[in-house]
Amino acid sequence: MAETAAKQDFYAGVDLGGTKILTGIFDANLNCLGRAKVSTKAEREPDEVIGRIARCVRDAVDECDLDMKQIKAVGIGAPGTVDAEAGRIIFAPNLRWEGIPLKKSLEKQLAVPVHVENDCNAAILGIYEAELASKPRHVVGIFLGTGIGGGIILDGKLFSGFTGTAGEIGHMVIVVGGPKCGCGSRGCFEALASRTAIFRRLSEAVADGKKTILTEMLGPDLKDLRSGDLRKAIKKGDKLVEQIIEEAAEYTGIAVANIVNILNPEVVVLGGGVIDALGDEMMSIILETAQDYGINDATQGVSIVASKRGDDAGIVGGAVLARRLSK
Ligand SMILES: [Zn+2]
Repeated sequence: MAETAAKQDFYAGVDLGGTKILTGIFDANLNCLGRAKVSTKAEREPDEVIGRIARCVRDAVDECDLDMKQIKAVGIGAPGTVDAEAGRIIFAPNLRWEGIPLKKSLEKQLAVPVHVENDCNAAILGIYEAELASKPRHVVGIFLGTGIGGGIILDGKLFSGFTGTAGEIGHMVIVVGGPKCGCGSRGCFEALASRTAIFRRLSEAVADGKKTILTEMLGPDLKDLRSGDLRKAIKKGDKLVEQIIEEAAEYTGIAVANIVNILNPEVVVLGGGVIDALGDEMMSIILETAQDYGINDATQGVSIVASKRGDDAGIVGGAVLARRLSK
């Protein structure tokens, strides 16, 4: 038994976020054998955070009763712009990292090959390999969370563009002169339909005296508001929340139409915390709007679906990255 296990290849997939680090250990068929989670503590020095990533990987390996020597490679999805070839984080605003040699530092600590990619690129790879059985040639992933990110697969390969930043779907401008975006521009998709944008619109409406049961649930300052609370409010017939979510879904549909018009992929996958919590409320509006705004020839036969992977897309993607690059 032990001998068979030792011969098998295992991969670690890591999802590095601003607040938490998730690691999953996968076999070559992408079955998850075990996982671990630690907080990121992004306010600490990069070296210390990298030490926490290493600990999270070791914890997950231990959880599966495996040894680090049995791990063939580690794949990490990291937020921000990434030089995947060099394994460097060029700029990750929510970690406050600039020019961090993540691959090199982590390989030193774990003595295993490490591959680094942008988190949305890793997530779309994970969904592509683990969820899309039909293996379409061209796929676009759009992830709605605190911000909005995207990943593009063309001809079965990640498309990273000229300098590696392709797929910044969240910064597609949709409303001229619209709300200010974290990138410095205005009216970006992210400034209209991310969780941050939805929460901001709700707070503004409450400050304007609009009524919502969220203030009864959470108090007037909507403290600790989560995407799941929005779903509960809509189920209870809250018109304000319903209207704001409908608008976010419409903006998302417009973004999908723009992408489909340009790239004509077979599949557009939507994921991230907002879609996990509000997919039932948003998907039909997203589809309808995408059809309305997309040109017929481009949208015909394109499937626009919600990912079923939820939070796991990142760790599966890390494992796929590790497996792809170890072959
Ligand atoms: Zn922007």
